[in-house]
Amino acid sequence: MTFDISEFRVSAGEAPKLNKRDTRATTGWDSNDKDGGKQRVLELNERLEQLQELLWAEGKNRVLVVLQAMDAGGKDGTVRHVFEGVNPTGVKVASFKKPTDEELAHDYLWRIHHHVPANGEIVVFNRSHYEDVLVVRVLDLAPKSRWSKRYEHIVNFEQMLADEGTTIVKIFLHISRAEQQERLQARLDEPDKNWKFDPGDLIMRERWDDFQQAFEDAIAKTSTNDAPWYVIPADRKWFRNIAISEILVQTLEGLNMEFPAPAQGLDEIVIPD
Ligand code: AMP
Ligand code: MG
Repeated sequence: MTFDISEFRVSAGEAPKLNKRDTRATTGWDSNDKDGGKQRVLELNERLEQLQELLWAEGKNRVLVVLQAMDAGGKDGTVRHVFEGVNPTGVKVASFKKPTDEELAHDYLWRIHHHVPANGEIVVFNRSHYEDVLVVRVLDLAPKSRWSKRYEHIVNFEQMLADEGTTIVKIFLHISRAEQQERLQARLDEPDKNWKFDPGDLIMRERWDDFQQAFEDAIAKTSTNDAPWYVIPADRKWFRNIAISEILVQTLEGLNMEFPAPAQGLDEIVIPD
């Protein structure tokens, strides 16, 4: 199946209308075919592995993947499944937690810029500078007069990265409130998931509607041609993995990369005994 990734892309200036989207959708895939879906992820994984090697070998492009979601939205699982088997040399994950005192003593992009990809690299942001218009807005960690200007900074910052050779893909894992409840409950019920349970997540959950509104605004205001947002139905993890793998594979294929030409005269070289 070829799958049209533009289905999930939010065009520049478009409102994502999160509350109208089905978080259980399996667009282009039979919702009962979970096994086939998992198989597809493995195939895409192999392709991604090849493309990542090419990206690294060619060393001309940089790829930044931004992952955002509500708590228990599947960011960690996405990193685990989508990049399974990809050579860790060329893929880095940067996780952005509560800022340290040193980070808070700077502007909010200071800690971010340092982690953007270099030539040949894929960097995945697990949370990102978007927290500065999400949690910061919802929990009032900065006055509105501060955070409301950040959308424009972010658009400009990302445009600069794109103009300088970075390909940017931003992904919102869209889960339902009911799915979040189930996943948080599983963290309480299953001993091997207990470590993931953070009581703070319940405080955030109380603010569900405010977070949805903050995501709605952030996506609407910052999806651009060079740094588009994709809203992925993410209640079904296997479908989420297919959709994101497809987006990455098709984005990398779109770079039309080539292995560097071999050095001259390789066929005359004899490796000594
Ligand atoms: P986790 O991803 O579950 O490890 O949680 C990280 C926590 O850090 C989340 O509660 C985020 O909301 C919080 N966080 C990340 N970035 C920021 C930020 N810029 N300001 C405040 N809190 C943040
Ligand atoms: Mg957490």
